[in-house]
Amino acid sequence: MPHKSKGKILVSACLYGYCCKYDGGNNILKSPLFQVLKNTGRLVPVCPEELGGLSTPRIPSEIKDGKVYNKEGEDVTAFFEKGAQKALEIAKKEGVRVAILKQGSPSCGSKRICDGTFSGTKISGEGITARKLIENGIPVFDETEVHLAKVLADGDPHNHHH
Ligand code: SF4
Repeated sequence: MPHKSKGKILVSACLYGYCCKYDGGNNILKSPLFQVLKNTGRLVPVCPEELGGLSTPRIPSEIKDGKVYNKEGEDVTAFFEKGAQKALEIAKKEGVRVAILKQGSPSCGSKRICDGTFSGTKISGEGITARKLIENGIPVFDETEVHLAKVLADGDPHNHHH
């Protein structure tokens, strides 16, 4: 299994196909390249919000002033931080090199998040898990950047010693 020697990739479980979205749906990614990665066992699916102890379906949440609130105004930051920590632990245990996470999510977004007003308005920013991974040296890509993530994950780690 030569593919197994290449790097693993942490992925948002909703992109993988699990129904872990707040509304009980998924964001299954049907790109052929993603399918190849899936079929060769290189993807490690995680849903930080479920890992943090939130149920599915759940009340949607957004980030405001560095904290996370659900649509009913409850501070759910601790759930998101716990989920980020668990996702990082899984990433380390599995030895993943990169992550492909769902853009726009308060957990998984790497470039854009909602603005905290529950109006669908997006602003620049990072979700709690995406930031945690980046801070710990794991580059985060989104669902439009599978090829970039694969290039990095395929790289020979022995060429990256510093
Ligand atoms: Fe998908 Fe991430 Fe939201 Fe879970 S937390 S449903 S993996 S975007």
